[in-house]
Amino acid sequence: KAKKRTILQAEHTSVAFGGFYAINDFSIEIMEGELHFLIGPNGAGKTTFLDVVCGKTKQSQGTLMFKEKHDLTKLKEFEIVREGIGRKFQAPSVFPNLTVWENLELSMKQDKRLFSILKAKSTKEERAQITEMLELIGLLPHKDEMARLLSHGQKQWLEIGMVMMQKPDLLMLDEPIAGMTEEEEEKTGELLLKLKEQCAIIVVEHDMEFVRKYSEKVTVMHEGQLLCDGPMEIVQANERVMEVYLGR
Ligand code: ADP
Repeated sequence: KAKKRTILQAEHTSVAFGGFYAINDFSIEIMEGELHFLIGPNGAGKTTFLDVVCGKTKQSQGTLMFKEKHDLTKLKEFEIVREGIGRKFQAPSVFPNLTVWENLELSMKQDKRLFSILKAKSTKEERAQITEMLELIGLLPHKDEMARLLSHGQKQWLEIGMVMMQKPDLLMLDEPIAGMTEEEEEKTGELLLKLKEQCAIIVVEHDMEFVRKYSEKVTVMHEGQLLCDGPMEIVQANERVMEVYLGR
């Protein structure tokens, strides 16, 4: 079996806002094929870390390597996307008056000019890719529906599909199951297990039950620092995690 490569490696990352360190000497490693949950109390620095990875926030210190060769601190936001990092934010941002199919079609061709996208018909191969994604996110029966008519859960899946059409090597999700029904949560968990075959995934999540059910690897942040990481069983048994995070 081939050795898995490191997709993201952050070492000694610090982020200062004025004199306040939102992240303080934090390190994390995300491997290929990993579904990695990033947890920790409010204000721990989780969102700030995702912001650093996608170039939205600049770190003050540390190294940040992508796929073992790209120094993300030297790249602009759009270059980071092009290198293969996809992020889905919490608020849905589908094109409401386009169909589900058109949403995926448009995101696949995001690097081309809008005018030519509207003019050019998708090739057979592109259409096959869209169909495959529709099956994966469970929206094939809804492909001709306007995106605005989808349920909350379906919109979230569509949006994950839209990010995936860019074929990222790392997918970053911020609380993907927020506002979902139990059934939708389960479908989302199953979807993440399938997607990790295609790219590494890092998920910021508050719902511990969900983390327990689907996590393989967990990193706990607390006050901008690494508190503990490892498989869920190990993390859950860590006394400091119980103290600061689980409130016991
Ligand atoms: P989490 O996502 O774990 O809840 P955040 O990364 O959102 O935590 O925030 C970490 C800390 O950094 C918090 O104390 C927050 O108030 C602070 N913070 C986040 N963004 C900024 C900013 N732009 N300016 C100043 N402080 C910030």
